[in-house]
Amino acid sequence: MNTKRFPDYRGSTPQLLPATVDHTTRFCRPARPTRLILSAILLAALGAGAFAADAGKAALEKKTSKDFMENPTGPFHSTTEQLIDEAVLRQHRSGKLLLLHINDVHEILKPPPKGLGGLAYVAGYVNQVRAQRKDTLFVDAGDILEKGDTMSRVSRGEASYRVLGSIGLDCTVPGNHDFVFGLDRLLENIKLVNLPIICTGMTYNDTKESVLPETMIKQVGSLKIGLIGATIGRSARSTRPVTQFANPELGQRINELAGKLEREVDLTILVLHNGTWAGRLMAKAAPAVDLVVCGHSNEVTEAPMKADTGALVVDVGRAGQWVGTMDLIVDCNQKKIARYTYEMIPMDHSKVQPDPQVARLVDELDRKWCPGNYLPKGSTAEGARTPQP
Ligand SMILES: [Zn+2]
Repeated sequence: MNTKRFPDYRGSTPQLLPATVDHTTRFCRPARPTRLILSAILLAALGAGAFAADAGKAALEKKTSKDFMENPTGPFHSTTEQLIDEAVLRQHRSGKLLLLHINDVHEILKPPPKGLGGLAYVAGYVNQVRAQRKDTLFVDAGDILEKGDTMSRVSRGEASYRVLGSIGLDCTVPGNHDFVFGLDRLLENIKLVNLPIICTGMTYNDTKESVLPETMIKQVGSLKIGLIGATIGRSARSTRPVTQFANPELGQRINELAGKLEREVDLTILVLHNGTWAGRLMAKAAPAVDLVVCGHSNEVTEAPMKADTGALVVDVGRAGQWVGTMDLIVDCNQKKIARYTYEMIPMDHSKVQPDPQVARLVDELDRKWCPGNYLPKGSTAEGARTPQP
């Protein structure tokens, strides 16, 4: 019986996460009927020796973030899939990558009094993983703004970007909500924290130049990872007018970029602020894309979905409640994912250690921008509450 609370990344052995993590030992809240059905599917799949049965996956893929909010701490599914035969893989150069991803934080910076999340917890988990695995890539798929903590609105996004800039992200993209104060303000906030943000399909009308870098290449462990950013966009009010691409131009541009990147990198990831339906569409338009990290629709892909091209498509709900964790082996000759294990890690306050620096920053920003939230010492009245995700 596995009694570890989190996947154990210690040691430098090339093993992936355990394929059969016993989540019931980690999360002991009573399961709802829907959970029982899922558990039964899972157990049946295990008993048959096929961990990820197609029927089970289909059922899992249909779940929404609302289902997970009803019972947010699990039990959770862990999916392992071998996509390239091990005998073939042994003859090729290969490398490992641990991808962590979040999306649609929506200003839930402070830990909610009940439930999961808070960016200090996300950062704490990421740091814990990074301490054990140097080949970690941490990505956010956009929509840091709107619907959450007051400090973010009062500061016109500054508080959110200061916190987003402190959690160790390798790459992010703008979401439609991130244009709420206009493009000029978005660019100011990005500059404030030197945010590693990319986005294709958004060009200045006068020069036709891209507003943000369209791609980036990251050396992660032994692998070169190519990243392309894209967003569903929103009318980007700006003193310098811009044009935003819609389909099919957006798909065509992503395809051009993915084709160029593939010559240089081992794996190509599209970070897309749009739902899994659009993610699969973009992957079809750009067959060199191996993995699409989605956002916007607040879906929860407890098991990765597949595009027609075989690209994996993931989306991890909203509000930093979970961190999607995908442990990958990449075939560098074929430039394809050879094997992966995927699971969602809940940001459960009783199980994750928050990062103290991020926690302090969130507290300082809240006191600076919302002093009215803090009542005089000795007062028994309740202060303003953190909104629920
Ligand atoms: Zn969105």
